[in-house]
Amino acid sequence: MNVPLILSQFLDRAVRLYGEKEAIYGDNKVLTYNQLNKRVNQLSHGLKSLNVNKGDRIAYLAPNSIEMLEGFYGVLQVGGIMVPLNIRLKPADYVFILNHSESKVLLVDQDLYQLIQPVKDQLTTVEKIIVHYKNDDTNETGYDAWLSSFSAEKYEREYLEEDDVCSLLYTSGTTGNPKGVMLTHRNNYLHALSTMHHIRVNDQDTLIHVLPMFHVNGWGSPFYYTANGASQVCLRRTTPEAIFSALEKYKATVLHMAPTVLNTLMQYYERYTPRFEHSIRIVIAGSAPPPAFVTRVEEEMGWEFIQVYGMTESSPLSTVSTIRSHLDHLSAKEKYRMKAKAGYEMIGAEVRVLNELGYEVEPNGKDIGEVVVRSNGVMKGYWKNDEATAAAILNGWLHTGDMGTVDHYGNIDIVDRKKDIIISGGENISSIEIEGILYEHPAVLEAAVIAVPHEKWGETPHAFVVLRDKQSTTEEELISFTRENMAHFKAITGVTFIEELPKTASGKIQKIHLRNDYWEAKGGHDGRYVN
Ligand code: ATP
Ligand code: MG
Repeated sequence: MNVPLILSQFLDRAVRLYGEKEAIYGDNKVLTYNQLNKRVNQLSHGLKSLNVNKGDRIAYLAPNSIEMLEGFYGVLQVGGIMVPLNIRLKPADYVFILNHSESKVLLVDQDLYQLIQPVKDQLTTVEKIIVHYKNDDTNETGYDAWLSSFSAEKYEREYLEEDDVCSLLYTSGTTGNPKGVMLTHRNNYLHALSTMHHIRVNDQDTLIHVLPMFHVNGWGSPFYYTANGASQVCLRRTTPEAIFSALEKYKATVLHMAPTVLNTLMQYYERYTPRFEHSIRIVIAGSAPPPAFVTRVEEEMGWEFIQVYGMTESSPLSTVSTIRSHLDHLSAKEKYRMKAKAGYEMIGAEVRVLNELGYEVEPNGKDIGEVVVRSNGVMKGYWKNDEATAAAILNGWLHTGDMGTVDHYGNIDIVDRKKDIIISGGENISSIEIEGILYEHPAVLEAAVIAVPHEKWGETPHAFVVLRDKQSTTEEELISFTRENMAHFKAITGVTFIEELPKTASGKIQKIHLRNDYWEAKGGHDGRYVN
C-alpha cells in the first residue's frame, strides 16, 4: 500500500520518540516536542475556526521563531499552504505577494507589523491578521491569547495527497522580481530525506537557525531536524557575536548559512578566536558561490564544511559536496585557491550539464553548459504563471539558468549565472572566478564583479569592492592583482569602491543593483546590462 508522504509525519515521529526533549528555543522560551505539538494543534483548530480549508494560503511575516515553526506544522495539518514572506521587503512588495498569492490569513511578528499596517487597506484577500505575541498597540488579534482559546487536543487532519502543494515560496529576487514557486509535500518530504542523509542529521544535533526559514534554504530545516528529534535554536539577530554566543550557550552542532555570512564568521573567528570548546560537527553553506577559500573553515576552525547547490525551484538542493571528498584530487596550490565545487548530485536528483545543442558537455571540468536537474524536489510550477513554468521545465528537466562544468568524477562546478557571465573577446569569463581572486587580496572584505561594455572586447569585468576595516588599496593595485593572478583577459579593468554590497535577505549579492549603480554613475545605460 502506498502511504502518501505528508510532512506532518515528521512531527508525529518526534512527538512519539522524543516528546519530552527540547524541540525549539527562541526569545527566552523553550518548548519540548510535546509542548510544540500542543500549540501546533491549537493553531490548526484556530485556523479551522477562521474557515481555513485545504489549499488556502496562509502567509507568515516573521523572523526565525517558535511561532514560525508552529506555523510549519499547524498550517500544513489543515491542508493549508504556507506563504512565508521575506522580512526585508518594502510594504508595497508585501501588497504584491499577499494579493498575488491570494492569502487568506496573515500571521505577523509584532516587530514587523509596522510594515503591514500602512498598506493593510490594499490587501484584497487577507481576511484576518494575527500578530505574534500581543495586540496592545496594533488592534489586531494577539497570537498567544488567540491560540490559548483553542483546544490542544489532536487535530483531525484533512486527507492530503502527496502531490498537494504545501508551500508557495517566492524566489530571492536576485535577478529580478521574485516568482512564486509551488512545492508539494512530496517535494519537501523526499528532499528532507535526502538532505538528512547527506548531512547526517541525528537526535544529538542542535541546529542554530542562521538561514531564514522564510527562504527556501532555511525552509527545509524544520522538516529534517524535527523528523530526527534534534533541537533547534532561533536567533533574532545573526551577527557573528550572536552566533558565537549561541554556539557556546546551546552547544550547537550544525550551522547552515549563506557563504557571505560564513565569511563574516571567519573574519570574526580570526580576530577573536573564541575561547570556548566548540561542539560544531558540520557547517553547510549554499545559495551563492563561496567567497573565501573555504578550506580554512576545515583547517583553521576545525569545522567540517559542506557546500550545497540548488534553487527555490528544486526544494532547493540538487548537489552536495564535502570539501574532504575532493581535497584528494587537488594540488597544494589548488587547495590554497580552493573554490568549493557544488558537488555531486544528491540522492533523488539527476543533474546534467548541457551545451547549447542540448547534449551533455564533455566531463573534463572545463566545457561549460547549462545545469539542468530532474528530481523529486523539482517544483510543481510557478504560481499563476504557466508560461514561466513551461519555459523552466522542459521534458521534465528544470533548466536552472546556471552555467557549470562537470569533471570525470561527476563533480559539478557552478561557473556563473547565465546572466552574470562576462563575454569578453568571445571568451566566457566567470565573475565568480574573479571574485575568488579578489578575496585573496588582504584589503578586500567583499567583492562582486559585473560585465560592462568595452569597445574592443564587447564586455569587460568591473569589480565592486568593500574594503576591510582600516585597510586601503587603489583601483590600479587591484587591477594589477587580478592580472598577476589570472589570465590577462580575465583581469578586471575597473573598480568601484563601495561601503556595502546590496544583498537579499538571505545574504545574496544583488548584482542587478550594482549594474544600476554603475549606469547611474555613468548617467544612463543601454538597457542590455541592467538585468
Ligand atoms: P531569482 O530567481 O528571484 O532571481 P535567486 O535565483 O537568487 O533569485 P534562489 O532560488 O534563492 O533565488 O537561488 C538560486 C540560485 O542561487 C541558483 O540558481 C544559483 O544561481 C545560486 N546558487 C545557489 N547555490 C549556489 C552555489 N553553491 N554556488 C553558486 N551559486 C549558487
Ligand atoms: Mg533564480
